[in-house]
Amino acid sequence: MAAFGSLSDRLNDTFDRLRGKGKLTEADINVAMREIRMALLEADVNYRVVKDFVTRTKERCLTAEVLESLTPAQNVVKIVLDELTELLGGTESKLVLSSRIPNVIMLVGLQGSGKTTAAVKLAYMLKKQGKSPLLAACDVYRPAAADQLATLGGEIGVPVFRGDGAHPVEIARASIREAVDTMRDVVIVDTAGRLQIDEEMMQEAVDIKKAVKPDQVLMVVDAMTGQDIVNVVSTFAERTDFDGVIISKLDGDARGGGALSVREVTGKPIKFVSMGEKPDSLEVFSPERMAKRILG
Ligand code: GDP
Repeated sequence: MAAFGSLSDRLNDTFDRLRGKGKLTEADINVAMREIRMALLEADVNYRVVKDFVTRTKERCLTAEVLESLTPAQNVVKIVLDELTELLGGTESKLVLSSRIPNVIMLVGLQGSGKTTAAVKLAYMLKKQGKSPLLAACDVYRPAAADQLATLGGEIGVPVFRGDGAHPVEIARASIREAVDTMRDVVIVDTAGRLQIDEEMMQEAVDIKKAVKPDQVLMVVDAMTGQDIVNVVSTFAERTDFDGVIISKLDGDARGGGALSVREVTGKPIKFVSMGEKPDSLEVFSPERMAKRILG
């Protein structure tokens, strides 16, 4: 896939070289692991994540399972696939809604990460599942954010609550009342982000969270995020905490390192991936499917 094109090519080149060798020696495995390490680093995967991944993979490849095997290259590919699936979270983690009405889902993340777009896509997905979502426009700083949400909400037939001029915490609170009054069963709260982590923005997200007690807080992470990801997600984890991650812009030509690092760095599951600007381009995330896509 686009975001991992170069990584896929490089991993496949390594596998092809292994296939060409027949029986594998420890030296062959060492060379292959070095290539895999370089490929992951160049895809901008966090270096600590790369180090642990390669250590685990190498340990498994230097056993009889591979060295004594009649199809060693095939076994290496299987081990890399397994480890990559684990790195991405192992099993699918579904969005769990509680029995509370309205359910509240709050989105956090840096400005430009794709929160507003993800909010709309999530609303569209829930609508298709028979829910009646309400979108709450709590990003009052980016001038066009509420308009953008209103336009996109209109396109998918989901109402948007906007409290022009009000404080974001008050808008969030009022959106819950609106949902109760208009029989909407899920409120998706789109919060403000700044380009950099910023104390005021963090405090506002904390205050909104306190006010609306969300059932789920999802952090939106741009697939393009490189090494800085540790800093960004750790700060959100400390301040607002979150239950899961949405990776955005996986359709772009980003190197995808952020997407590959985020589960290992946060310990939180990736719940969805966003692959385009259309409302239906949100996918439930499957670690195994993603690992298979990356390995081509
Ligand atoms: P926010 O500031 O976090 O609310 O970010 P936006 O939702 O406004 O997204 C920022 C930009 O990224 C917009 O131009 C979106 O159209 C674009 N965008 C968001 N998600 C995706 C995605 O999955 N794929 C692509 N190609 N573009 C996206």
